[in-house]
Amino acid sequence: MAVSDVRPLLELWEDVRAVDHHCHPLRRWPFQLTELELRSAFTEAIDPAIAEHHVIHTAAYQGALHRIAAELHCDPSEGAILGRRNAADPASYARQLLGRTATEVMLVDQGFATGDAFTVEEQQQATGIPQLEIIRLETLAENLVKTASDPREWFANIRAALRADVGRGAVGVKTICAYRASLKLEPVDTDALGVAFSSLRLRAERGEALRVTGNAICHALVFEAAKECQELEVPLQVHCGFGDPDEDLADASPLGLRPLLIDHAYRGLRIALLHCYPYHREAAYLCSVFPGAYMDLSLAIPFAALDGVRAMREALGLCPTSKLLYASDATRYPEVYLVAATLHREALGDALSELVERRVMSRSVAVDAGRQVLAGNARRLYPLPNGPGQ
Ligand SMILES: [Zn+2]
Repeated sequence: MAVSDVRPLLELWEDVRAVDHHCHPLRRWPFQLTELELRSAFTEAIDPAIAEHHVIHTAAYQGALHRIAAELHCDPSEGAILGRRNAADPASYARQLLGRTATEVMLVDQGFATGDAFTVEEQQQATGIPQLEIIRLETLAENLVKTASDPREWFANIRAALRADVGRGAVGVKTICAYRASLKLEPVDTDALGVAFSSLRLRAERGEALRVTGNAICHALVFEAAKECQELEVPLQVHCGFGDPDEDLADASPLGLRPLLIDHAYRGLRIALLHCYPYHREAAYLCSVFPGAYMDLSLAIPFAALDGVRAMREALGLCPTSKLLYASDATRYPEVYLVAATLHREALGDALSELVERRVMSRSVAVDAGRQVLAGNARRLYPLPNGPGQ
């Protein structure tokens, strides 16, 4: 298949400031970046042997080096890139790369922020890009175990905290249920829930680290959060598909969210399916039949190299362009935000150009669809301060 000429569309979107509806905090600068750290930023592997021996041999990392080198005007090698970046002024270097992402606002999940990461306020100050917070459900729930003596009281406290967080400006809730349980939601087993909560409570009293896991507790949390999101009119973001090996990918299909999509009790709830790959076709199906379903291809773009581009084409098989969202899912290093943003625009340009060339869409419809994916859809989905513009 001939590669489409994406340049005309990319040029027409140059003025579009994107809404990055899912990303993470940057590492607080200044710091010197090592080869291993740069490689680790472009893999979901946890075992360091992958970064050490194999990442350099991935199409995704080679592609990332080329995109970064193009911005830094140097060879696409680790040595040349690290030499440039480590010699530069960290703040202006970061602002240069982040500026190239053409991001209007970042919706930040602080969920796995480490001690060396910016807070939301610091990140806004440091980057000059407005930041809005997404609340991570499981972290919030773990922090509130001690406040309750039974699951009912716990859920009430969690919902009150979500209301308070949205009241002070958070624009959505995110669940990482797929990392803690199966994503195939089951009706809540109250006995199992009671047992699971008691053991959490005991650990909290002993001052031990808490981690909500298992279907009983994690599914109950998702149902509670879904009700609260529905009432607050904010989206529930759900991690599905691709992630690190802490999750069982076999149990991470978005199809498992069916109870939230068919039960009238959740009518009006909007669910943003994050990542989706390799279940992006399943996600696209859900978007095509359920009004409340939205999806993105973050993480697959940029980690799956050309398969990310193919995923974009496949997603647009069933998914209306009004329901596809842009996200970088970037974290820690400015390079990752740059590569994710660049490749996402390229993949979008590729998929929509093909539709134009094959006379599926007119150019003007494709240009507008790209604008919606980059910003307009998220503006309608989230309660952003400037309202639902285009
Ligand atoms: Zn993420």
